[in-house]
Amino acid sequence: MIFKQLFDTKSSTYTYLISSGNGREALIIDPVLENVNEYIYILKELDLKLVKVIDTHIHADHVTGASKLKNITKCSTIMGNHTPAESVEIKVKDDEYINLDNIKIRAMYTPGHTSDSYSFLMNNYLFSGDTLLINGTGRTDFQNGNAKDAYNSIFNKLLKLPDETLLYPAHDYKGEKVSTIGKERKQNPRLQVNSVDEYVEIMNNLNIKKPSELEFNVSRNINLGA
Ligand code: FE
Repeated sequence: MIFKQLFDTKSSTYTYLISSGNGREALIIDPVLENVNEYIYILKELDLKLVKVIDTHIHADHVTGASKLKNITKCSTIMGNHTPAESVEIKVKDDEYINLDNIKIRAMYTPGHTSDSYSFLMNNYLFSGDTLLINGTGRTDFQNGNAKDAYNSIFNKLLKLPDETLLYPAHDYKGEKVSTIGKERKQNPRLQVNSVDEYVEIMNNLNIKKPSELEFNVSRNINLGA
């Protein structure tokens, strides 16, 4: 299998490139518009055919490269079916599988950070978007975010996965690249709560500033960055 974790320094976004092998189909999760040329270069180097691109949710902190990649490679665009982005071609449902040659990727509806947030599970690789981060969790204070939903998505869905599941989030601001579900359950400070109310209390009092260009990014991303 080919697996590449790429990083956008401006927005601290992780983008993932997956393929079963050289000369085969590829999929990209959470591409960043400014880095599309880099993805195209890697695809060419590895002789891969990009067939699918996924956005885990409508991002507020960067513009997606989905439309640009589609224009260049004719790949299909995928999001969860709660997305407000009408031009998405394939809208997957909770528990639906996405195929990539012999690889199967399960879509999991994990609202809370936004109402359209999905996570994607490929074998023991979990791409959690901004639902679950390393030592953190995605904020819930805009884009129909909801701390109670986030608690439910994290505790009743993602943390039910086996301990050894590898956690690959959409962002990290401290240089962490990967964790596991077991490690996060034990050590993630946001997850050391005894009740949903306690979690909601924490999330509703974070007082963090909004990303710059939030409105611009969201409005671009509703059109997949076109
Ligand atoms: Fe986000």
